[in-house]
Amino acid sequence: MTTDPAAMDALHARAIDVARQAYAPYSQLRVGAALRSTSGTVYTGCNVENASFSIGGCAERAAIAAAVQAEGSAFRLAAIAVAAFAQDGSELPITPCGACRQALVEFGPEARVGFRQPDGAWLDVSADALLPYRFAFPRQ
Ligand SMILES: [Zn+2]
Repeated sequence: MTTDPAAMDALHARAIDVARQAYAPYSQLRVGAALRSTSGTVYTGCNVENASFSIGGCAERAAIAAAVQAEGSAFRLAAIAVAAFAQDGSELPITPCGACRQALVEFGPEARVGFRQPDGAWLDVSADALLPYRFAFPRQ
């Protein structure tokens, strides 16, 4: 289901759509993320900046927060797509930042992560491939 090209295409489209809602008056970089949980539900998020830059939030983690609010601790990430736009409306290649990669693997290391490459094509890789040496809480 999650690696189905049509399912990923739908997430790509939703990520592009939700990027329009971003609040990005400082960077002018509008980012949207659309994820599908293993239950099949789609959740979206966009970046929300703040004058105090460090408290701004990324689109990916906004989408994860929406999914957790809806599904609770049972939430598992199946796939996510991320899209970004410049102030002039042109789409830009982007990948999840390091903090978001850590958040993605928390909920689905095997999840597909889709993003635009510099040539404009979508690339879908596993969350695990994006952060192979991630932090894991040590077992005691
Ligand atoms: Zn991020």
